[in-house]
Amino acid sequence: MKVVNTIAEMKALRDTLPRPIGLVPTMGYLHDGHLSLVRRALEENASTVVSIFVNPTQFGENEDLADYPRDTERDLAALETLGTDAVFTPAAPEMYPPRFSTWVIVADLTERLEGASRPTHFRGVTTVVAKLLNIVAPDRTYFGQKDAQQAAVIGRMAADLNMDTEIVVAPTVREPDGLAMSSRNTYLSPDERTQAVALSRALQLAERLWLEGVTDAERIRAEMTDLLREQPLAEIDYVSVADAQTLQELHTVAPPALVSLAVRFGRTRLIDNVKLH
Ligand code: AMP
Repeated sequence: MKVVNTIAEMKALRDTLPRPIGLVPTMGYLHDGHLSLVRRALEENASTVVSIFVNPTQFGENEDLADYPRDTERDLAALETLGTDAVFTPAAPEMYPPRFSTWVIVADLTERLEGASRPTHFRGVTTVVAKLLNIVAPDRTYFGQKDAQQAAVIGRMAADLNMDTEIVVAPTVREPDGLAMSSRNTYLSPDERTQAVALSRALQLAERLWLEGVTDAERIRAEMTDLLREQPLAEIDYVSVADAQTLQELHTVAPPALVSLAVRFGRTRLIDNVKLH
C-alpha cells in the first residue's frame, strides 16, 4: 500500500494504477462504515484509493475541527489489511495554500437541513471533493447514505459540472443497537451513548408509520419528535420528512422520501436518516 502526502505524488501515482480506480474520501478515524465503502470499492475496481483529510473548510467557526478524532496509524493498518492500493493523506496547507480563493457552490439543495444549521459546510465539502476528483481522477467515488444530503449534493455537483466519475452511495452501517456508526460517536458520554439510540428508533418509527399507511408527514415528524423528547439529554436540531431528490419538506409522503434528523447530545451533534420507498 502506497501512502502519499503531496498532490504531485498522488497525480503521478494515479497514472500508474490499473483502472478502473475507486476513490473513498474520508476524514479518517475509520470505523466499519468507512471500511464498508472501501470493501465495496475494492470489489468494483482494479485499484482503490482512500483519502484521509480532516477538511478544515467544512467545519464552522464554533465546530469541532481542533478536537476531531484522529488516529492515522490505526487507519493505515486497517486499510492495509483490506488490501487498499493507495492512501492520500495531505496536510491542510497542501490542499489550501496561501491565496487559495476558489469555491464550488451547489445552490438550493445545500440551503436546507444540514445547510440551514451549518451555512458554510457544503461549500467546504464540494470544494474539497472537487479537488480530490481532480487529483485522483477516479472512475468511481464512494459515499455513505449516512450523510444523505452530502451524497445528493455531490451527485448534483458531479452531474452539473460533467465530472468523469460515477458517484456510488452505499448503505449506512450501524452498531448492534441501531446507532449509525460515526467518528463523532467517540465524543458521547456513557449516558449520551445510551440515549443516542433514540435517533435510529425515531427513524424506525417513521418507517413503521409509513408502512402502516400514514402519509401525513407532519404526524410522522410529530411522533418522531415526541420519541426524541423522552430522552432528557437530546436537543433536537431538526426532524425532516422531505422529498428525497429536492429535499423540500413534504405535507404528504410520496416515495422516495428522505426522513432525516439532527440531534445534539451535549457537544456532540449526530445525524441519521432513512429513505421511504
Ligand atoms: P467522514 O469521515 O465522516 O467524512 O465519512 C467519510 C465517508 O464515510 C462519507 O461518505 C460518509 O457518508 C461515510 N460514512 C460515515 N459513516 C458511515 C456509516 N455509518 N455507514 C456508511 N458510510 C458511512
